[in-house]
Amino acid sequence: MVHCVNIGTPDSPTATKVMLLGSGELGKEVIIALQRLGVETIAVDRYPNAPGQQVAHRAYTINMTDPEAVAEVIFKEKPDYVVPEIEAIATDALARVEERGWTNVIPCPKATQLTMNREGIRKLAAEDLGLPTSPYRFASSLDEVREAAEALGYPVVIKPVMSSSGHGQSVVREPGAVEAAWEYATTEGRVKGERVIVEGFVDFDYEITQLTVRAKGSDGEIHSHFCAPVGHRQQGGDYVESWQPQPMSEAALTKAREIADKVTTALGGSGIFGVELFVIGDEVYFSEVSPRPHDTGLVTMATQRLSEFELHARAILGLPVDTTLCRPGASAVIYGTEDSKAVVFEGLEEALAVPESDVRLFGKPSSSAPHRRMGVALATADDIETARERARECAQAVKVKY
Ligand code: AMP
Repeated sequence: MVHCVNIGTPDSPTATKVMLLGSGELGKEVIIALQRLGVETIAVDRYPNAPGQQVAHRAYTINMTDPEAVAEVIFKEKPDYVVPEIEAIATDALARVEERGWTNVIPCPKATQLTMNREGIRKLAAEDLGLPTSPYRFASSLDEVREAAEALGYPVVIKPVMSSSGHGQSVVREPGAVEAAWEYATTEGRVKGERVIVEGFVDFDYEITQLTVRAKGSDGEIHSHFCAPVGHRQQGGDYVESWQPQPMSEAALTKAREIADKVTTALGGSGIFGVELFVIGDEVYFSEVSPRPHDTGLVTMATQRLSEFELHARAILGLPVDTTLCRPGASAVIYGTEDSKAVVFEGLEEALAVPESDVRLFGKPSSSAPHRRMGVALATADDIETARERARECAQAVKVKY
């Protein structure tokens, strides 16, 4: 049976309504992409005037880890789709509202539940699916962490199970540094907790994000569609620059896509996923996966015919996708470095004079020390090296004034 996708008129009884839970810079771009397709958008965040709230039809500010508050806003709006943009959401509430038929959760409640905790997704990937990962152990006390580190061998990476983007994460090279890493992990995680993952350190050649869209193919069935691999560089667990396409051997690319296909199929639903992988030669190791657009994929706004946000919008609505890469490109993050409200961006004339460059300023109402992502520079070129230089030059020309 051919499935018909109808889109109504915003702010009318026929409207197709999509609610973003989390409305930062990634949510803002998803909202813009949805609005271009005539969708009514609702932006929810934990602080007012978040980037996505500035461009949505309506906005709510709630505590998204509170199941009552999440269920209440969904019940009030009854959106056709709820799209989580961050991990720190009361995911049990999402499962309940979908069961009650109030909405559809993107990509699906199971994916949001499993990926919000490193334990859920690591066990799925390594134990259920048998994917290659770093060696790992979970630990709930300092003694257990010491034991795990001894068993795995130094160096190890210690991370809170409820965390992302390097928060509470440290690389430990010798036994004397374990206690400080344990303290850091148990106080800096998203939820103050006592459980961590201890991973063997992978001395990778490079790391990639394999953006994978689960969307309807011409047969009406949901398939995995792959973007060109995105290479990136992290500092302190946070991405500072990304580029596309990352050059890879044929064997490594095939393995990367097999892993991405297996893990996204197991998670299920429709939408874009950022599958993070480490590569050594022709070997590929699964690291983690986000069931939503990925920050390193901001580069796709310059490189692909449809950005990762437009691909997500299409997949959410059940429309066909196209992952064509048009030109090599790169992104470089523009950081705020001080705690401040209402910053001013200077140097844009110089920044945008860089050939084939562009910027996105997220409009965040405040910058917080030490490192808040306030914008991103984008650039394209004949090759990724030139694109990276251009993106860096463009980002450096933008000065954030306090
Ligand atoms: P994560 O928050 O798990 O995505 O980790 C952030 C970054 O830390 C990754 O993108 C890697 O650059 C680095 N990293 C995390 N785990 C490991 C590991 N087991 N071995 C080496 N580097 C890692």
